[in-house]
Amino acid sequence: MSHKGNVFNIQRFTINDGPGVRTELFLKGCPLRCKWCSNPESWMSIIQPGIYRAKCISRKKCGLCEESCPQSGALNFYRGKIALIDRSKCLNCMACARACPSEAVKQWGNMMTVEECMQEIRRDKGYYDRSGGGITVSGGEPLLQSDFVAELFKSCKEENIQTCFESTFYAEWEEIEKILPYTDLIITDIKHMNTQVHSQYTGVHNEKILENLEKLAGLGRKLIVRIPLIPTINDSMENIEATAEFILKKLNGQVSIIQLLSYMRLGEEKYASLGIPYQMSYLKFNRRSFQNHVKEISAYFNARGIKCIVGTTETE
Ligand code: SF4
Ligand code: SF4
Repeated sequence: MSHKGNVFNIQRFTINDGPGVRTELFLKGCPLRCKWCSNPESWMSIIQPGIYRAKCISRKKCGLCEESCPQSGALNFYRGKIALIDRSKCLNCMACARACPSEAVKQWGNMMTVEECMQEIRRDKGYYDRSGGGITVSGGEPLLQSDFVAELFKSCKEENIQTCFESTFYAEWEEIEKILPYTDLIITDIKHMNTQVHSQYTGVHNEKILENLEKLAGLGRKLIVRIPLIPTINDSMENIEATAEFILKKLNGQVSIIQLLSYMRLGEEKYASLGIPYQMSYLKFNRRSFQNHVKEISAYFNARGIKCIVGTTETE
């Protein structure tokens, strides 16, 4: 059976999520709601419209979205331009996005077959081979669409294309098992070691995640571990020490590298496009001293014998 995946973005020539030159597929749907997330368009598993008011021509001169919408009052305008979608009325039918000539209404998500994705992926096979790259599936949470990812990765392996996926690992083991036989590389992240704090900032507890990481390490799977460092939330030395302890005691020497990602205020326009409030606006910090703190954290991991870098330039 051929599966379809809900893909909200395909980026060619990425160099951040795995080695070499890569094609990256971003899948829709995520069980977490990290308050610092820069991809809120990935949260819902359904296809949704997003609004980019600055691109709107004008209701008076165009108005095609409103004409095509079956739900009266779903599209709201302010000073003659698109301003908001009333999500309680919207049916997510995408008529507005199809009608809009200027991408002021954008469709987030697209149901794609494995073969459609492979056509995109094959275009850059020569670059993967020369650079040691391949494909990375990210999200959202790829494990919510594990049948699709397994079939996609199987096709990649048949064509000698390296595969990598990036996951929160907040998932049942059965979903992970489907993908593992066709996976070359795994990227994950550890957001907080205290499960209550983890739940407060991501919406889920961390036990299942840590258990899955232990299991993967037990199977001899190498892990690239990312820590998104968010000032005052998870950058205390207490949390960093607890993370180092977990890696050293439970992950069996299988962490090939830790990549520290310093918090950056990204994705606010996407929150606005979806009408979701951005929850990190309150966070004020001194960027220079935070960067120094991030370097100290990196030095701490390295001193404990765990290779660590700031950023994503190295993968092992
Ligand atoms: S997705 Fe459909 S129902 Fe929702 S605003 Fe657009 S046209 Fe209207
Ligand atoms: S179809 Fe697009 S450009 Fe035209 S009024 Fe609607 S949002 Fe604006």
